[in-house]
Amino acid sequence: MLKWQIGDVTVTQIVELTTASLGPHLLPQATPERMQAVPWLAPFIDESGRIILSMHALVIQTPTQTIVVDTCIGNDKERSYPRWNMMQGDFLQRFAAAGFAAEKIDTVLCTHMHVDHVGWNTRLVEGAWVPTFANADYLFAQEEWAYWRTEEQEYGPVIEDSVEPIFAAGLAKLVASNHQVCAEVQLEATPGHTPGHVSVHITSNGEEAVITGDMIHHPCQIAHPDWSTTADENQTNAATTRDLFLEKYAGRPILIIGTHFAAPTAGYIVADSNWKEKSSKEKSLKAKGLAGKSPLDQNENNSAVSYRLDY
Ligand SMILES: [Zn+2]
Repeated sequence: MLKWQIGDVTVTQIVELTTASLGPHLLPQATPERMQAVPWLAPFIDESGRIILSMHALVIQTPTQTIVVDTCIGNDKERSYPRWNMMQGDFLQRFAAAGFAAEKIDTVLCTHMHVDHVGWNTRLVEGAWVPTFANADYLFAQEEWAYWRTEEQEYGPVIEDSVEPIFAAGLAKLVASNHQVCAEVQLEATPGHTPGHVSVHITSNGEEAVITGDMIHHPCQIAHPDWSTTADENQTNAATTRDLFLEKYAGRPILIIGTHFAAPTAGYIVADSNWKEKSSKEKSLKAKGLAGKSPLDQNENNSAVSYRLDY
């Protein structure tokens, strides 16, 4: 079980499952050949070169609050993806074994409302979906809720079984995308993957960390921020947000904790001095195609900087 200390704040990872079978569907650009050519990606791919995705919750403990960020897939839920359908996992046992009591969680924070981020918001009790964290405020970004109230869902009745019961129980709180949750924790708008997607910024005693959410699914997107996933609702906006995020955080002592990164899960964004010439060419070709459309594209045109995760 991985834990990180950021000043007076502790972040603990509770893993529900890890999978390499989703990768080719989610990020078809991340071929085994490309992944195996990049040595620093080794912990994040399997022996066949397929990208590994970890489904985990992150529990933030501040001096005053215990906050669960993202609640994975959940049990007993009807899902169109066979491996997630009617799952019977031991997430809650792992959660308890890590020393956390569901009834003592103060806040649940969903970075967005996709199937693998809201699942344990609820559990099935005598045929009804009830909040797993019965005494928590569940925070959702206003824009995210506005979107999913009308948008069609890909994986099954996720909103119906994992979000609406939270509203029905009176535990949902709609907040702005830059909402200050407590002294140490603030939301940071990172739209694109979904319209109301947020990342989570932690500051304590001069130390900082950011929980990515699905703004970056896999560390290979730090090297290739232009690789949007098939799950990104708006692939262009998702890529722009990644570019801006990498520029903002590169070279700073701010721990980046990945919501789907396999172990070691966290690291620092740094310029990649081994960036291959071929990749720079790819990048400059892309920049030419986009040149003049926005200040960000202009920057790309002038720079061949690429990044990696230093862990
Ligand atoms: Zn996800």
